[in-house]
Amino acid sequence: MSIVDEVLAGYGALQASQEAFYKDLHQHPELSHQERRTAARVAGNLQESGFTVRSGIGGTGVVGVLSNGGGPTVLLRADMDALPVREDTDAEYASSVTAEDADGHEVPVAHACGHDIHVSCLLGAGKLLADEVSRWSGTLVTLFQPAEETGDGARGMVDDGLLEQIPVPDVALAQHVLPGIAGTVGTRSGPALSAADSVKITVYGRGGHGSMPQNTVDPVVLAAMIIVRLQTIVSREVAPGETAVLTVGSCQAGSKSNVIPDHAVLQLNLRSYAQQTRQRMLTAIQRIVLAECQASGSPRAPGCETFDSFPLTDNDPDVTSRVAAAFREHFGDRAQDLGQQTASEDFSDVPRAAGIPYTYWAIGGTDPRAYRAAAKAGRLQDDIPANHSPKFLPVLQPTLRTGTESLVTAALAWLAPQSAT
Ligand code: ZN
Ligand code: ZN
Repeated sequence: MSIVDEVLAGYGALQASQEAFYKDLHQHPELSHQERRTAARVAGNLQESGFTVRSGIGGTGVVGVLSNGGGPTVLLRADMDALPVREDTDAEYASSVTAEDADGHEVPVAHACGHDIHVSCLLGAGKLLADEVSRWSGTLVTLFQPAEETGDGARGMVDDGLLEQIPVPDVALAQHVLPGIAGTVGTRSGPALSAADSVKITVYGRGGHGSMPQNTVDPVVLAAMIIVRLQTIVSREVAPGETAVLTVGSCQAGSKSNVIPDHAVLQLNLRSYAQQTRQRMLTAIQRIVLAECQASGSPRAPGCETFDSFPLTDNDPDVTSRVAAAFREHFGDRAQDLGQQTASEDFSDVPRAAGIPYTYWAIGGTDPRAYRAAAKAGRLQDDIPANHSPKFLPVLQPTLRTGTESLVTAALAWLAPQSAT
């Protein structure tokens, strides 16, 4: 029996309480920067497992440290926040929670990105490793960050002195649950998740009566022209082999059919893998907005602000191959290659600040039968809800078990390296 198997032998005894913990989190989702209940439950659970706990880092961030003799220091990370989404699943533990968002609006809240899975798996992995300290040596750091969805939770912890409060890790590891066969894990070397930026554009017109457009500058038409023209950035300005996405996710102007408003607000989201591509897209957006404002005779310079920026997740080749080898050893053919994702993550802000290598992998969360049926029918996009969908809900098992096993297996590739051979 390998050391990994010996440590994971404790999963059976853990499973019921982990599932209960997960269901509780799922029913009590909290928005980015508001993860107070979650953080308190995490801290309590870590303490019970024997970790030294620090809370309130970067707002609601929590770290647990378990020092167990000489050897490497491994950081395992989970994110805790939920989304302003109204859950539309038939789970008996579905969320009906609402909360006040950063703008003061009452919004529905749900764990529509599966961060409750990440938290539950990491606590489970910490407990299993803490219960078997005779089988490994080194230091385990578990990090629970707030506000992944807004892209500033990891940076907030770093800015609040995270790295002075934990032993310097040798490696950082994290995972995300995605649509895919539950029970599988996917690794990828090099760029795995895209960089992301959001851009808010405000264009100005001159308001007036809907019956007398000749007296106005119509910002609705101006915004429409910008939206159409923005579609040419990826299709005409980015090389065909280069991955780039530009989505106009929000367009707001006016409130009445017969009033021409005086401004319009667009919100854009960009994804890219190469810094050059990212810069080219941002420059093109500026150029197009300015030119369209001029074409419309806009009376005022447009406003343009970038927000919710996420770094590129660029997995270290050596770290990734070590994790992939450990996964192959433990999961067999359930260990797979992950395709490049256009999703984004702020996880890498922590290892980047610490100057250490990292890797980030995916675990499947979809019922295997439903996934295979949809794949066979060519209906994956139609039938399998993706993260952020109101219908996104990972199957409880084997998702929780696989996410727990993957963290333990990857950590032991450093903390008990003979287990990987
Ligand atoms: Zn998300
Ligand atoms: Zn997420």
